[in-house]
Formats: sequence, C-alpha cells, structure tokens
Amino acid sequence: MKITKTICALASLLITTQFAQAQTWPTKTLTWIVPFAAGGPTDAMARDIADKVSRHLGQTVIIENTAGAGGTLGAGKAAKANPDGYTFLVGHMGYMGAAPALYKKLSYDPVKDFEAVFRFPDTPLVLLVPKTSPYKTADALIAAAKASPKKINFGNAGVGSTSHLIAALFESKAGIDVTPISYKGAAPAMNDLVGGQVDAMFDQSNTALPQVTGGRLNAIALTSLTPMPVQYPNVPALAEKTLPGFEAATWYGLYAPKGVAKDVVQKLHQAYLKALTDKDWTKRMAAQGINLLPEAQYAPEAFAKHTAAEVDRWRQVATDAKIQID
Ligand code: ASP
Repeated sequence: MKITKTICALASLLITTQFAQAQTWPTKTLTWIVPFAAGGPTDAMARDIADKVSRHLGQTVIIENTAGAGGTLGAGKAAKANPDGYTFLVGHMGYMGAAPALYKKLSYDPVKDFEAVFRFPDTPLVLLVPKTSPYKTADALIAAAKASPKKINFGNAGVGSTSHLIAALFESKAGIDVTPISYKGAAPAMNDLVGGQVDAMFDQSNTALPQVTGGRLNAIALTSLTPMPVQYPNVPALAEKTLPGFEAATWYGLYAPKGVAKDVVQKLHQAYLKALTDKDWTKRMAAQGINLLPEAQYAPEAFAKHTAAEVDRWRQVATDAKIQID
C-alpha cells in the first residue's frame, strides 16, 4: 500500500515536472548531436537548420560532433541522454534506417529509443573522382573495376554511412568489387579524395557542389532518377543509361531520446515550419540540389512512420545487395 502510494506520487511528480518543463521550455541552450566530423553534409545541414530554428525558438542551438562508427556512436549517446528537451540527435538513413540490418550489436533501437521530431529535406548523391582521375564516366570506372576487382577504392564517411551504403548498392547493381575506406565523416574522406589518395566517393550533392564548381573534383554521375542540369550540367544520372532504375537520396531529421515531453516536440516542429516559410532560404536549398518535401512529410508522426518503414526496407535491401558489416 505504502509502495503503491509512493509510486503514484512519483508518477504524478514526473508528469507535473514534464508539464512544468514544457510550459517554460526552452530556458537554456539546446544541443543537437551530429555523429560525424564537422564540415560534412550532415553537419552542414544541421547547422543551417539549427540556425533558422533557433531564431524562432528564441534559444541557441549548439552542434556537438560525436563522430565514429558510421554515426552509431553519437546515436547511442543520444539514446541514453536525458529526455529533458535539451539534447537531440540529427539522424540519417544510415544509423537510423539501415544500422539495425547491418550491425549485429547496436546499442540503440532507432524506433523504440527515440521520438521523431521533424524530418529535414532529402539530398541525392553524386559520384566523385579526383580531378586527375582516369575515369571520366561511371561506365569507364565500372569497366576498370570489372577488369581489376578490389583495385579501385571508395572513400566513405564510416561503416554504414550513406556514402558507404550507396557505394555498396552501386557495387551490387554494377556487379563490381571495390575496396571501401572509412573515415569519421565525409569531410575527411573528401580531403583525401581531393588529394588523390582515394579513387572515388559518393557524397551528398549539396556539399559536393562547391568542390566541383571550384574545380577540385569531377562529378561523373548522379543518384537522382533524373539529371540536375542547373547544379550539375552535363553529369548524367546513373539511372539514365548506366544502371536503369538506380535511385538513392539521403533522408535526415531530428530525433529526441524517448520520453521527451510531447509539447517540446510540437514546439520544435512549429519553429521549423515557421523557418521554412522563409522563401529565400528554401530557394537557396533548392539551388544546391536539396529536395524540399511536401509539408506533411516533415511532421513528427510522418517522420516516425518513415523511420520504421526505412528500418524494414533496409533489412531487405541489405539482404538483396549482400551488404554486411560485422
Ligand atoms: N552524411 C554523410 C554520409 O553518411 C556523412 C557526413 O555527413 O559526414 O556519408
């Protein structure tokens, strides 16, 4: 009896505390964990969105880069964080979609341990080679890889990162075998690609763009279904001729550790929707090749459903493409 009373008292204290928190939230700086090195696509997207959202929240958002193991290190840390509405995870298709199919031991469950807050716009990828590369087309690279299995190496942002997953899908569809080289994010991998230590890499089309227009890298193919003539003139989509039907884009979004107050999720989502009414901003994203989505897809419920569907989809994709990690 006494114990029941204590439990009831504790439960009501928790509800009251959560309610009080949600009423005044946010009273201090928010932290968004980005599980890759600074300067890469996830980091760039997170900083841009955090900047806009923080203006509508009236609180600063800081980005904490906890890099390693294809994003699973930072995601594991976020899963265990206090769900007090001040620590969040910037998640993407790799460690929040594909990871359960790839890792035998994963310290978190993308669906059970997190609350989806809102989805970011998507970004397609681009196949990049160094300026001095002998491969001027994806067909030439595939032919060379077929002639010498394992000789060509592909940089990626970590085991299970999107750059790794898309390269593995590309290998499977093209019937080739390349050597993956993993880094703690796309930014350090790109440095080695520019330096010529890495032969090729898939990177997000938005962050790759300045490297290509600045003449440091060549873009030889796109993973969007159709070409992107404004951003990448004369660069074919893989689907056009080389690999019909090939299509890939990375999805991203914000998550909170499970147990966060519903009101916190709603307030963040509303701040994000307000930020998206800035047409200069959305135009700028579109000009970088970022795919803006219908508004309903940004919502917490839709994003939670999407995450669960992606976890299921990747179990199949990983089996079909024989993508394994451990
Ligand atoms: N999003 C990138 C990837 O998974 C990594 C990064 O942002 O650095 O390839």
